[in-house]
Amino acid sequence: MTISRRTLLAAAPVAAAALAAPSLARAQNAGRVVIIGGGFGGASAARFARDRFPALDVTLIEQNRTFTTCPYGNLVLAGRRTIESITFGYERLAARGVRVVHQRATAIDPQAKRVRLSDGAEVPYDRLVVSPGIDLRWGAIERYDQAASARMPHGWAPYVQPITVLERQLREMRQGGVFVMAIPDNPFRCPPGPYERISMVAEYFKRHNPRAKILALDAKNGFSKQPLFQDAWEELYPGMIEWRGASNDGRVTAVNPEALECVTEFRDRVRGDVVNVIPPQMAGQIARDAGLANASGWCPIKPATFESAQVSDIWVLGDATIAAPMPKSGFAASTQAKHAIACIAASLAGREPPPAVYFNTCYSHVGEDYGISIVGVFRGGERLTEVEGSGGISPRNSALPADRRAEFRRLEAIYADGWYDAITGEMFG
Ligand SMILES: Cc1cc2nc3c(=O)[nH]c(=O)nc-3n(C[C@H](O)[C@H](O)[C@H](O)COP(=O)(O)OP(=O)(O)OC[C@H]3O[C@@H](n4cnc5c(N)ncnc54)[C@H](O)[C@@H]3O)c2cc1C
Repeated sequence: MTISRRTLLAAAPVAAAALAAPSLARAQNAGRVVIIGGGFGGASAARFARDRFPALDVTLIEQNRTFTTCPYGNLVLAGRRTIESITFGYERLAARGVRVVHQRATAIDPQAKRVRLSDGAEVPYDRLVVSPGIDLRWGAIERYDQAASARMPHGWAPYVQPITVLERQLREMRQGGVFVMAIPDNPFRCPPGPYERISMVAEYFKRHNPRAKILALDAKNGFSKQPLFQDAWEELYPGMIEWRGASNDGRVTAVNPEALECVTEFRDRVRGDVVNVIPPQMAGQIARDAGLANASGWCPIKPATFESAQVSDIWVLGDATIAAPMPKSGFAASTQAKHAIACIAASLAGREPPPAVYFNTCYSHVGEDYGISIVGVFRGGERLTEVEGSGGISPRNSALPADRRAEFRRLEAIYADGWYDAITGEMFG
C-alpha cells in the first residue's frame, strides 16, 4: 500500500493495525476493494464487503467525518427530528475492519489503478467502487449559484449545504408568509423527496404558522406517488398548498436572489418569503473527472453488475448512475451496492457474476401518523427492467375501507421509521 502514513494515522485505528501487521493483512487479502463516498451506496458496500467477504481488503474514502442522511431531513423541517438524530459517524465501520480514510478523492488513474487523495497520497486498488452522490448544476437556473443558495437554500445535498440553513429560514418566516419551492425535471435525486418536503413544511405550518402558503413550481407535469400526496394535502392541509406543473408555467428558469424571486419559463415573477430552489443535478465531480459520466453528466453502467460501461474495473453506484427505471434513492443505492460487491468478489475469484435483482421501497411521511410508499423490483440483463406487477404505490384512501384508513396510514409511517433505522443501522451500526 502506498497510502501515506499521515493519511493512515488520521484514519481508523484498524488502519494503523493493518500497517503494523502487513503480512497478516496480505495473507487474508483476496483483493483490494477501494470505495469512494461513504453515503448510502459506499457505506453499504463497505459494510457488506467486510461482513460477507472477509478476505477482501476494504478501504472507504469519505471526505467528511460524519454523514447526515437526506432521508428524514424533511422531518427536521417539520420539527420532528433533530439534525443530530440523522447524523452518523464511521467508527463502527472502522471497528468492523473497514479502513476508513477521511480525505477527498481528487483523481482516479484507471491505468495504474490508483486513487489520489487531497493530501497527495495514493491508494492502489484491484476493484474500485465510486458512489459520490450528486453535484448541483450551478447556473442551470440562471443566477442560481452557490452564493445564491445561501439566500435560497436547496437542502438537497448535506455535504454541500446542511438542511439547517433552510430550517432556520422556515422558523424565522413571517406569519402568513409564502414558502416557494422550485422543483427540477427528471432525473434528479429522490423523485418523491420534494413532495415529502412540501408535506413536512405544511405540517410545520399547520402547527406554527397556520396562515402560511406553499407554492410549488415544478418543471414536470407529474410526480412520484402524486395521487397519494395530493389526497393527503387535501385532507390534512386544505387550501395551504398550490402545485403548478410545467404546462401551467411551473418551470423556473431564473432567480433573483436579492428579491427572493423565481422567474418562470413564461416570465412570471414569483416572490417568496422563503424560497427553496432544488436545481438540476449531475453525478459527483470525481465520477465526471474520471471519465465515468457521459454527455448527460450521469454515469452509464452495465445493468447486470453496475460496473461502469466506460471504464473497466470500476463500479459506479447510487445517484451518480444512469439506472432508470430504478429511482435515485438510498434504498436503490444500497441494493446496488450489495450486488456490486458480490460481482466484484466473483470477478476477483474468476467466477461469473450472480444474477442481478435489485429492490426499492421509498416511504414518505406526509403528516403525523400518515405514511405512503412506492415499491419496485428490477432485473439487470442487457437492460434494467422493472419486473411487471412487482410493485407500485400503496393504495389510495378511497380504495381502503373507511374504518381502516387511519390505521393503514399510521402503519406505513411506522414502517418508514423501521426502514430508516434498519438501513442506517446496516450502514453505520
Ligand atoms: C430530501 C431527501 C429525502 C430523501 N429521502 C429518501 C428516502 O426516504 N428513501 C430513500 O431511499 N432515499 C431518499 N433520498 C435519496 C437518497 O438520499 C440518495 O438517493 C442517496 O443518498 C444516494 O446515495 P449515494 O451513495 O449515491 O450518495 P450519498 O448518499 O449522497 O453519498 C455520497 C458520499 O460521497 C462523499 N463524496 C463525494 N465526493 C467525494 C470525494 N471526491 N471524495 C470523498 N468523498 C466524496 C460525500 O461526502 C457523501 O458522503 C432522499 C433525498 C433527499 C434529498
